[in-house]
Amino acid sequence: MRMYDIIKKKRDGNELTTEEINFFISGYVDGSIPDYQASALCMAVFFSGMTPRETTDLTLAMAKSGDMLDLTVLGDKTVDKHSTGGVGDKVTLVVAPVAAALGCTVAKMSGRGLGHTGGTVDKLESIPGFKVELSSDEFFGQVRDIGISVIGQSGNLTPADKKLYALRDVTATVESVPLIASSIISKKLAGGSRHIVLDVTCGSGAFMKTPAAAEELAKAMVEIGTMAGRKMTAVITNMDTPLGVNIGNILEVKEAVDVLKGGGPADLREVCVEIASLMYASCFDCAADEARPKVLEVLEDGSAFEKLKAMVSAQGGDTAVLDDPSLFPAPQYSHEVKSPRGGFISHMNAEQVGIASVVLGAGREKKGDPIDYKAGISLLRKTGDAVAEGDVIAVLCTDTEDKIPQAEQMILNAIEFSDTQPTEETLIYKIIN
Ligand code: URA
Repeated sequence: MRMYDIIKKKRDGNELTTEEINFFISGYVDGSIPDYQASALCMAVFFSGMTPRETTDLTLAMAKSGDMLDLTVLGDKTVDKHSTGGVGDKVTLVVAPVAAALGCTVAKMSGRGLGHTGGTVDKLESIPGFKVELSSDEFFGQVRDIGISVIGQSGNLTPADKKLYALRDVTATVESVPLIASSIISKKLAGGSRHIVLDVTCGSGAFMKTPAAAEELAKAMVEIGTMAGRKMTAVITNMDTPLGVNIGNILEVKEAVDVLKGGGPADLREVCVEIASLMYASCFDCAADEARPKVLEVLEDGSAFEKLKAMVSAQGGDTAVLDDPSLFPAPQYSHEVKSPRGGFISHMNAEQVGIASVVLGAGREKKGDPIDYKAGISLLRKTGDAVAEGDVIAVLCTDTEDKIPQAEQMILNAIEFSDTQPTEETLIYKIIN
């Protein structure tokens, strides 16, 4: 079998066999297939797609490319949550401790930033000292002791996704249903949780731009996960405008802490309450409506915040910055972006805002680039808000002063104005389980 022929076959729109998919994954993981051939195949899949059978084969090959955790010793309430990616999406930082505070067992693997979207692992690493790589003994021990651990794809779990994810990030091959579905579900299967809640985002800041595309992805993932014996729930959420106010690693941790202390922006709170309720409902076999008051209670009484602190402390992080977020290091430069006119913000292209944040240093331009955890954007106005000419719409944070003009222009280009107030956007479109 030759990788060249596999690329050509997919380039020409044909269906790959199980053996060809397994050959690609094992060869890419052992290094016999180079990055350039893997990226050519990803691009061919991007354009030609995959059948449900190919997507399932790719998912299983990726899941089995490394170790697969068996979490059954931790009981039947192990729950994992995954977002298909967004701008300002700090939901995991809130819902994981909420679910753990409610008695769910959160043993979770998260990813790094991808394209214009941020990643939970980068956000957690912005907490001084926080370790995202734990040995399997440490991971199990911590989950047994405190009911929660969020780690990166450490050890030998889904090495195929680890390599492909970083490759797709820099080769413009992210936005593809089979590639996203296999990436996410392979990690979830290897992660071993019995209950899986997927936040499938849609809109300008998501990889899926329309609710219909998001639903196609959600159904593909629910189907593969169910076939593999997991209890799956997917929720389609709006990512047309960045979620919450802050974008960038430290900025997002600060905002998640606000929500865990009972505050935070309304849109972020609503999405977090919905997803945490679905996690609880899946584990305890009840309706999401029954779960919602319990979620609100642990947000109000501080027990979810205490869970986050327990996790941060167990993974070597400094909890002082959570108690007092002003202790986080501050960026060298803060620059105000002012509104060029009065009226209403009728649309804000979240992808462009996400890219502006990458330009400021919050994400990677190239595989392996370092991140400036302090970099990012605070949006003081969002879609639907009224503005007067000269009002501050956003504050840009960075240590790299010469990136500010480019990022400022991108923010201004991302915003559309109107004279009348736009209709309010739907935040949660649909639940699929
Ligand atoms: N999140 C993932 O884990 N993988 C993707 O491909 C996209 C979002």
